[in-house]
Amino acid sequence: RSKLNARINRIEPSMTIGISAKAKDLCAAGLDVLSFSAGEPDFDTPDNIKIAAIKATVDGFTKYTAAGGINELRDAVVEKEKRRNGLDYKRENICISVGAKHALFNIAAVMLEEGDEIIIPAPYWVTYEAIAKYVGAKPVIIETKEENGFIPTHEDWEKAITPNTKMILINNPSNPTGATYEKSDLEFIAKLAEKHDLWIISDEIYEDIVFDGYNPVSIATLSDYAYERTLVVNGISKTYSMTGWRIGYTCGDSEVVAAMIKLQSQSTSNPTSIAQMAALEALRGPQDSVEKMRTKFEERRNFIVNALNSIDGITCFNPKGAFYVFPNISAFFGREYEGKKITGSMKFAELLLEHALIAVVPGIAFGDDRFMRFSFATSLENLKEGVERLKKFVEKIK
Ligand code: PLP
Repeated sequence: RSKLNARINRIEPSMTIGISAKAKDLCAAGLDVLSFSAGEPDFDTPDNIKIAAIKATVDGFTKYTAAGGINELRDAVVEKEKRRNGLDYKRENICISVGAKHALFNIAAVMLEEGDEIIIPAPYWVTYEAIAKYVGAKPVIIETKEENGFIPTHEDWEKAITPNTKMILINNPSNPTGATYEKSDLEFIAKLAEKHDLWIISDEIYEDIVFDGYNPVSIATLSDYAYERTLVVNGISKTYSMTGWRIGYTCGDSEVVAAMIKLQSQSTSNPTSIAQMAALEALRGPQDSVEKMRTKFEERRNFIVNALNSIDGITCFNPKGAFYVFPNISAFFGREYEGKKITGSMKFAELLLEHALIAVVPGIAFGDDRFMRFSFATSLENLKEGVERLKKFVEKIK
């Protein structure tokens, strides 16, 4: 008998986490590496939130809680979804999980059967594909085009549907491209889902990191069907710079939510008690830090998109959300850096780390080899220095 089961061999470790770890190791070894690979804001968690966690600890709020989260936090999510998106939920529609990633995993675990198809537009956050495969479902990938803003066309969506399709996944704004959906796109998807009796997962984790006045609507608001059949996934990691606290949530169908809570009750049990209290403060406390961080992100986005587009051979889509740019580097493929052939995004990223000491994530990690993901969740100074290093590196490509 083999040591590991077949299921675990269906998935690869997260490349983003792997590259960030490698960059950290090189830094620890004394090299001046600049990392643009992280999927997390560089800001500190706001003080009011930290204090709430300290208070919870000192007050002894350190025991098991209900598996699906404390009622106050579920209610705070209800209030937040009403306030932010105009969605009407009750406590029974909310499950608190150990991050949005855990929420997505649990949705897949309780809803997808072996062979069910889930439609995922590419470039995509690779975890979607991994989770689908792990539970035995089939990810059906829609390729998108840069010139369409990395959003599938209506025809693309229609063509991806088969009798086995159970779910559609949308991520708005998107990691890794920063692509954003117009309301009309979402209306189309909502109608299509209704026509084919499909469920929708709407990953809205970057909803507050948006630029140029873009204000995402949740697909769940667009029809009665969409409200009933959408599982809205969100969390506090990105908006409040709380990636390490591990709190995320799902809003939607109460039976799905109950099944997720049942699974949590037999696996993780509750999300960390004191992190739940911190999340409660994040959602109910002062919100001014959110806008402060957003403004910084927009300033950085403006800089990096211009800077990258000014480098010969690189073109960069201007994202309206999230904190990544996804420049096209395919013009360098087939050429050489110091005699080493650039075969694709992986090789490009490897050479970049080795010779320019900058860490990025190759596009292949997101299902499109022509690109690299460059996170601007770092200071403007680092971005400026990074662009200089990238420019010098690219100039040496023959
Ligand atoms: N969804 C997307 C698109 C993400 O990029 C991430 C984090 O990188 C998550 C969900 C997961 O967030 P968390 O598990 O920290 O709540």
